[in-house]
Amino acid sequence: MNNPNIGVLGGDARYIHLANALSRDGYEVHCMFLDSPRLARGVHRAEDFRDALPFCAALLLPTPVCGQGLELNAPYWPQDRNRDIGQFLGDIGKTALVLGGAFSPAVKAAFAAKELRFIDLMERDDLAAANALPTAEGAVAMAMEQMEITLSGSRSCVVGCGRCGRVLARLLAAMGSRVTVTARRPGQLTWIADQGWTPLETGRLAQGAGEWDVVFNTVPAPVVDRRVLDALGPGAVVIDLASRPGSTDFPYAAQRGITAVLAPGLPGKVAPKTAGLILRDTILPILRERGISV
Ligand code: NAP
Repeated sequence: MNNPNIGVLGGDARYIHLANALSRDGYEVHCMFLDSPRLARGVHRAEDFRDALPFCAALLLPTPVCGQGLELNAPYWPQDRNRDIGQFLGDIGKTALVLGGAFSPAVKAAFAAKELRFIDLMERDDLAAANALPTAEGAVAMAMEQMEITLSGSRSCVVGCGRCGRVLARLLAAMGSRVTVTARRPGQLTWIADQGWTPLETGRLAQGAGEWDVVFNTVPAPVVDRRVLDALGPGAVVIDLASRPGSTDFPYAAQRGITAVLAPGLPGKVAPKTAGLILRDTILPILRERGISV
């Protein structure tokens, strides 16, 4: 029996490693809208999606699926080539399993118009949990680029005590930073204190802000507001990890001359191979559940 055909359509460097890993796992991987010398020899490159798309039992779309509007997120494909998803949606078989990350309302509407179903990987807890470590490492790297002092000996604040916040606090503490972690639930504040970190209610952020050299935000709500920015000491840096548009009043930070950086998509930027393998580990059980196994 032939091994199942999997289509990888577009995507950033993570998808090169994802394609290579699935090929190593034994799948027949067909890349469309994605070409790179780093693709392994066993991976098929489809010059025209019509050659491969109809035969694929599963299709892996990028994260996010589209850049602007309905344009496939395909940075490893010639810029002058058409990348509108409308050109291939009609060729996707109704039974094909479609997986991708972060489907915008416009992309969802385009899929609905063709009666196509999909799974949004960004809504999966296992992927988010596994991505916390590369995200936290990326945040540390970004802080080191922006700060004028070492993290060792610094005073840092991690806003939010979820998946990313907990891992980030652990890394910062291990590097010798004195870490404050904020949370809104009393039970979490107790847990933070148990870790040896300084707990603070997220609502009281402005009260502690004068102490910190760097603030990492992980809360997807507008918490790093004018009061917090006004309270920061000179030279303090804000690294905002929350999904676009972030949770910092960036125009006000710019007005005040405060370095505040929105840092989206860190796993793919700082650790594309790790992030690609995390995608593979998330996708494989879904493929197996649907009987798309090697
Ligand atoms: P998470 O586990 O859900 O943690 C979110 C934290 O924010 C929790 O502590 C939550 O508190 C708190 N929170 C949520 N809404 C709040 C509000 N209105 N007020 C106060 N606290 C609030 O999420 P995560 O996986 O750590 O991800 C955090 C953010 O980073 C998300 O926006 C995610 O999309 C983004 N992200 C970015 C990258 C990147 O590369 N930049 C990578 C991964 C994730 P409770 O526990 O009390 O709800």
